[in-house]
Amino acid sequence: MTLPIVIQSTVASLLSHIRYHPSMAYIEIDKDAFFHNLNQLALKAGSKEKIALVLKDNAYGHGLAIMAELAARWGVREAVVKNLKEAFEVERLFDNTLVLGERPVAHERLSFAVSELSALEEADTKAAIELKIDTGMHRNGIAEEELDRALAIIRKRGLHLKGVMTHYRSADICTSEYYWQKKRFARLREYILSEGFHSVRFHSHNSAALLRCKSFDEDIARVGIAAYGYEELPDCFDRYGLKPVLSLYARRFSSKVLKRGERIGYGGDFTLAEDTKISTYDIGYGDGWRRGDSSNPYTTAEGLKILGRVSMDFISLPCDRESVCIMNDAAYAAKHFSTITYEILTSLKEHIPRYVV
Ligand SMILES: *Cc1c(COP(=O)(O)O)cnc(C)c1O
Repeated sequence: MTLPIVIQSTVASLLSHIRYHPSMAYIEIDKDAFFHNLNQLALKAGSKEKIALVLKDNAYGHGLAIMAELAARWGVREAVVKNLKEAFEVERLFDNTLVLGERPVAHERLSFAVSELSALEEADTKAAIELKIDTGMHRNGIAEEELDRALAIIRKRGLHLKGVMTHYRSADICTSEYYWQKKRFARLREYILSEGFHSVRFHSHNSAALLRCKSFDEDIARVGIAAYGYEELPDCFDRYGLKPVLSLYARRFSSKVLKRGERIGYGGDFTLAEDTKISTYDIGYGDGWRRGDSSNPYTTAEGLKILGRVSMDFISLPCDRESVCIMNDAAYAAKHFSTITYEILTSLKEHIPRYVV
């Protein structure tokens, strides 16, 4: 059904009004915390130029455009994204953007991770490729035994081999696994150099690997979670004082005083022990916040327990402040919900407005 023009334009003007109306959950991005984290990582990596910032999945939920622009302003020259949609949003800001999950196409500022021999056979000969080798994670990457075949295809087809990479399966665990994968990769690097590929860059380190390594000697480190403020490492490793970048806020929608014994929300799971002023706040599982389990309620950053079940768009809290900080530490939330910071952060939907503070 098409609406008459008058109604359409009224709806449009209402919508444009609503879009700028402040009554909405929002995310604050702490620029100083982000720059602090990048400084710490650059110290560890040896220089700013060695930081390849992973911006995949809407910059771990922080907002792709905002984080890419801040990163470029700080001096990040290398980006890593998931797909071409993300790549085209940010590539103009960086010297190179590595795309992890798409077929290679020719573009002066993009390179593409390639994980299969067949993909090498099919790759556009003008595309920059970064060969991924499986050194033990057994997810993506060619097998070590396939390396000679891969180099032969690259030579025969005249492909542009920009990089060679691998990924650790257990860099964040205090075992020897990181060391043998690193050793394998170092041997592969020697071999590839000895085969005459001198202008290739080598990279294997994610956040955990970079933070735990003694001396970083690769060309770039692909850092994600640490740049956003989380050190996912056991206590046996050094700490770097990284600071969470993202805080999630919700705004008050309505308030009421309820009497002792009244029950709140779907299922009436929570019963008030005394007369209480409660308010609803506009965040819910439809925004990517966890529904969780109402018998084990989450406590907000300001110490307020969520009362009863989380709805699609609302939660109830025992207060009437105009806005509340739901979360400023994804590690706390991850622990509460038995998951990882990555999942808490990347779940936050794109429609939530993000502001830099
Ligand atoms: C996501 C990802 C990273 C970043 O990992 P963090 O643990 O967030 O630093 C690095 N490399 C690859 C291939 C990835 O997919």
